[in-house]
Amino acid sequence: MNHTSSTRALFTDISGASTTGIATIMSLEGNQKLLRAFKRSGLFFGLAVVSVLIPMLHFVLVPAFLIISIVMFVKTMSEAKIATALEGECPSCHKKIDLVGTFKLSGSKESCPQCRQLLRISFDEVN
Ligand SMILES: [Zn+2]
Repeated sequence: MNHTSSTRALFTDISGASTTGIATIMSLEGNQKLLRAFKRSGLFFGLAVVSVLIPMLHFVLVPAFLIISIVMFVKTMSEAKIATALEGECPSCHKKIDLVGTFKLSGSKESCPQCRQLLRISFDEVN
């Protein structure tokens, strides 16, 4: 069963202007974390397998994609909580932002759906 909660999200644009909004936070349990980690690392593992067929480049690409795959797996397993929805106002165009998806709780960046301005998103509660 998923445990969800809400917290305050801060949207900051490139000029430093910021607005606050609401984020829905979901706590991930063991199986969900594992499934997410396999999905994210599986893409790079697949690229490593396909890279075997490329002459010369496979000496670099196969180990690189395998390393990226392992790093993605470890990073994804360390994420105990993710944001699943963001609501607020864009600090650049002042239009409503309503995003649904999966967002990391640290270092998350999204484009405003209206003006395409890149927004840095930070969250109040991350424990
Ligand atoms: Zn905007």
